Amino acid sequence: MDYQQFSKISLGFFPTPLVKLSRLSQALGCEIWMKRDDMTGLAFGGNKTRKLEYILGDALAKGCDTIITAGAAQSNHCRQTAAAAAQLNLDCHLILGGEQPEITQGNLLLDNLLGCHIHWAGENRKGEDIPALYQSLQAKGKKPYIVPYGGSNELGALAFVDAVKELAEQSRGLVFSRLIFASSSGGTHAGLWLGKQLFNLGFELVGINIDKDESGQVPFADHILELGKQTAKLIGSKESFSHEALLLNPDYQGEGYGIVGTQENEAIAMTAQLEGILLDPVYTGRAMAGLIDMIRTGAIPQGERVLFWHTGGAPSLFAYADKLDIGQGKNQRL
Ligand SMILES: *Cc1c(COP(=O)(O)O)cnc(C)c1O
Repeated sequence: MDYQQFSKISLGFFPTPLVKLSRLSQALGCEIWMKRDDMTGLAFGGNKTRKLEYILGDALAKGCDTIITAGAAQSNHCRQTAAAAAQLNLDCHLILGGEQPEITQGNLLLDNLLGCHIHWAGENRKGEDIPALYQSLQAKGKKPYIVPYGGSNELGALAFVDAVKELAEQSRGLVFSRLIFASSSGGTHAGLWLGKQLFNLGFELVGINIDKDESGQVPFADHILELGKQTAKLIGSKESFSHEALLLNPDYQGEGYGIVGTQENEAIAMTAQLEGILLDPVYTGRAMAGLIDMIRTGAIPQGERVLFWHTGGAPSLFAYADKLDIGQGKNQRL
């Protein structure tokens, strides 16, 4: 395959580490490894760094000077986009769902430090206001470029084809039975899936569905399938995709997107206290809760070697401070 026609730039540090989680493995009875995409390095890192290497490379190649993207107030995607834009001397406009909160914390604090323009969009949480902002910036003589929600288009997914290649090179001789990760806007899932096919890796790819399906919206699995097909087409691959092969586990959505429950709290505490590794409350905490539960219930048999892809997100811990279970009785006056 020839990727030469794509203008990929460098924004992060790769390969990200692949590490064995010895104490968590011992506690659960499986051999658990972790791919540390929380360490991509771009303003606290995360999986969006990979996508932005292709997407912002495309923006530069097209001579754009302004970036527009959208997300939730605590969007990791928006924070990494703002950081990359700063580095590349591009203006950055973020359209964030909801109203401006009283306290500026977590990713939102970082967005502000990174110097981007923030537009609060109220109930328009999925980037509905992007076209209007695009036109107004254009009218002011700017050359705007739209980065899709979550960086999930074909270019973003392509970055995860590269990520699978990186994993294959790094894990020589080490065979994983499953790869577990948090799936949301679909680019990570589509790319990992295509990469797994292209590089013939035998693991079962299990996305933990983070968001609740809403009526009237294209089902997530259909969206991921379509994105996978389009990404294959982009690189001239004939890989075909079937619904049956797409594993998107809906069992851990809890009370919905961004609502932290006991499962996320337990997963975050276990991973922190057994490994010294920080998960996030929205994505990786929920995905790890899924992994823990699948091991405990026997859906993943004891002794299996599995890989958890850490997609980042820990900066939002600070914004969720009052929702996190930090344990009682360990704070005391000397
Ligand atoms: C965006 C994000 C995901 C989900 O990736 P998608 O490509 O949007 O499915 C998972 N974890 C974290 C921390 C994220 O920021």
